[in-house]
Amino acid sequence: MINKLVIIGVGLIGGSLALALRQAGAVKEIIGLGRSRENLDAARTLGIIDRSETDLATAVKGADVVVLAVPVAAMQPTLAQLSACLSPHTIVTDVGSTKRDVISYARQHLPNHLARFIPGHPIAGAEKSGAAAAFADLFQGRNVIVTPLPENEAQAVSRITAMWQTCGAIVNTMSAQQHDEIFAAVSHLPHLLSFALVEDIAFRANASELFSYAAGGFRDFTRIAGSHPEMWRDICLANRDVLIREIDTYQSQLNRLRGMLEQNDGKSLEEVFGHARTARAEWLTGKPDSQ
Ligand code: NAP
Repeated sequence: MINKLVIIGVGLIGGSLALALRQAGAVKEIIGLGRSRENLDAARTLGIIDRSETDLATAVKGADVVVLAVPVAAMQPTLAQLSACLSPHTIVTDVGSTKRDVISYARQHLPNHLARFIPGHPIAGAEKSGAAAAFADLFQGRNVIVTPLPENEAQAVSRITAMWQTCGAIVNTMSAQQHDEIFAAVSHLPHLLSFALVEDIAFRANASELFSYAAGGFRDFTRIAGSHPEMWRDICLANRDVLIREIDTYQSQLNRLRGMLEQNDGKSLEEVFGHARTARAEWLTGKPDSQ
């Protein structure tokens, strides 16, 4: 049971966490803080939070758990403000999509609170944002990555693990470096590619003609280009060293395929497409492709 939960950034992720904990009966009071009055009012009306606060010190006083659910570039100023007003027993966690940057901000601003700063990242989301997009089942059966610090108190890690398990999530732990490398490859690069393709098509002279014929394949490939630009700007910048390496690796793959086209090498192309299709089917089903 969490007696007092403070969510800073009551959007899709912060709001869904609040709803899931409330539905599970695992929290007594939920206080929201954020940027715009409209979003906090919506969160209150939707029953996501019990009340909102404008003063951070008042909001976090005596809190059991404070969850940072703002875009990753807003984590630093938020942690800087938090440093002066945390109660010693309060556990702070975050849901940021990148971990090395958030941890470095926590080390900078909460050096005396690192035993109770537990970095996390739920692997669940949607292209929608804000409190109105939140729903209680978002984390059911989904992974949450916790990247504990050497300074973390075991009991605080257990409490955050239990919080996510209460929401139906499966909690895994790994290092922040490993986390950022994995998600650069399977999340950040695909988002960048999707935004890039739409941008490329949208600014061609015959863009409307192209869009008028775009069908299911284009829709599927570009679904994630509907994601929040501010959030993805922050994620890409925060993980830019690893993401640049991933772009280079992908570029090599494109060059390889380009070479096959230049050589009119259908056999090699078909081999690559076949490997990719099998690998995707195995990923989707969790077992070798039967086709
Ligand atoms: P979101 O729906 O846009 O929610 C973010 C909330 O933070 C908004 O309510 C926003 O307020 C508030 N906010 C923005 N800047 C702020 C600031 N400077 N100070 C205080 N509040 C601020 O975004 P989200 O999808 O929930 O993402 C939140 C975090 O979760 C991000 O760190 C993201 O990397 C991470 N995450 C996202 C996903 C995903 O797929 N969406 C998945 C896993 C993790 P306003 O509404 O008033 O602008």
